Amino acid sequence: MGFAMAIDGPAGAGKSTIAKMVAKKLGLTYIDTGAMYRAVAYYMYSNGVDTGNEQLVGEKCNDIDIVIEYIDGAQQVILNGENITSHLRDEAVGKLASTVAKMAAVRAKLVELQRKLASESRIVMDGRDIGTCVLPKADVKIYLDASVEERAKRRYKELTEKGVDCLIDIIRLDIEERDYEDMNRDISPLKQARDAILVDSSDMSIDEVVDKICSIYEESLS
Ligand code: C5P
Repeated sequence: MGFAMAIDGPAGAGKSTIAKMVAKKLGLTYIDTGAMYRAVAYYMYSNGVDTGNEQLVGEKCNDIDIVIEYIDGAQQVILNGENITSHLRDEAVGKLASTVAKMAAVRAKLVELQRKLASESRIVMDGRDIGTCVLPKADVKIYLDASVEERAKRRYKELTEKGVDCLIDIIRLDIEERDYEDMNRDISPLKQARDAILVDSSDMSIDEVVDKICSIYEESLS
């Protein structure tokens, strides 16, 4: 029998880390939809497409074939036959992803792919519009939030641990900008679905959040 858990929330709330761990614990397939928007952004960037021209981006979407595969349980994004997963977490790609994610043609293409993937297995899918638009009938809906300060701190720690030179104030501004873009776009803006359960992870450890979501899952079965 199919099963779908939707986890939505703003940038840096820990969705992908948490969703991956929840999926592993519950034996579900994890689907990262942000990576798909990042893949479209990466395509536009590496082909020199002017992302200020929405019509052109829409036309170029017809040249894109995205396939999702798994290696040892980790999602891989194959763009026109090439595995581009390692390029997707760059800050520049994330920012451009927010720009192309506002465009109707991009969303239509990716939402279709996301629904198809969800229909094929028991899944946890994370993103911005999963509970509100992609899977409005999801069995469990979580809205994972955290304060801007906490999200900036986490991102700063992650980047400095990787040896990346950065300033926490700039990261905070980037997060605020991305929140604004995601929450104020015309199509499928980020918002908590009416039937989603809010989990604020500001003062919780990763394990506490995973346990909380797993207990919400257990309750949904009873
Ligand atoms: O979650 P992640 O940071 O990888 O997402 C990159 C961008 O893709 C987000 O800032 C958002 O604009 C967009 N996105 C979206 N809808 C989704 C997932 C991501 O609009 N379901």
